[in-house]
Amino acid sequence: MNKVKNSIKYTRVLLKLSGESLIDINGSSKIHIKSLDFLSKEIKRIIDLNIELGIVIGAGNLFRGSQLQKMGINRVVSDHIGMLSTVINGLAINNSMNKMNIKTELMSAIPLNGICEIYNWSRAINLLSKKIVVIFSAGIGNPFFTTDSAACLRAIEVHADIVLKGTLVDGVYTSDPKKNNNAILYSKLSYKEVLKKELKIMDLSAFSLARDYKLPICVFNINKPGALYRIITGVSEGTLIN
Ligand code: UDP
Repeated sequence: MNKVKNSIKYTRVLLKLSGESLIDINGSSKIHIKSLDFLSKEIKRIIDLNIELGIVIGAGNLFRGSQLQKMGINRVVSDHIGMLSTVINGLAINNSMNKMNIKTELMSAIPLNGICEIYNWSRAINLLSKKIVVIFSAGIGNPFFTTDSAACLRAIEVHADIVLKGTLVDGVYTSDPKKNNNAILYSKLSYKEVLKKELKIMDLSAFSLARDYKLPICVFNINKPGALYRIITGVSEGTLIN
């Protein structure tokens, strides 16, 4: 255990979970209990290393503002629906982690009295210092943003060492690995290279925020067992952008 402790690379991290990580692999359930339990187990492994963890949760499994807008719903209203959907996911992952005896606090950028706490910066830092996992839901609380922006913003606010962006692929590739068998995985990239090569890591406002505040981002496969643990303990995993 001491050997592992010595190799801990990050002590306060912000994990971005996309809504899609909650889906059943067969696509039959939008919030699947097995996916929740898998994520909670992966999280428990790093919590046991005594690290401080904040989580920003997305809602791509339920509603995205851009998709609702295409159906004819006003964009601001669409984004409100998207943000509230992240709270739904937050409630689900919060409950799953509690079942595994992980101490958590669910916060929302939009007040939802009786359901969860409203986001409060100093309280969030206080909870993190006590090793309580803070789940940040409802994005930044404003339309026209994504939860990637929320992840970078909250990470900077709480002085996290890194944003770990959990995705369904192994990291950032030279081209789409689903379309091109010869696509190569980057292990490291600079912010400049990402922009120059026009690689899609996250939306530009989120990415610019990370770059401006020198916040490292690691893009990795959240469905790969042990990947989260390996990143925290300094083993190369996914793509590191800094
Ligand atoms: N959203 C928003 N403001 C925010 C964060 C999210 O309006 O600060 C809305 C937006 O409609 C977005 C949806 O919430 O499409 C779900 O978030 P996101 O698409 O980032 O989820 P993910 O792709 O990570 O699952």
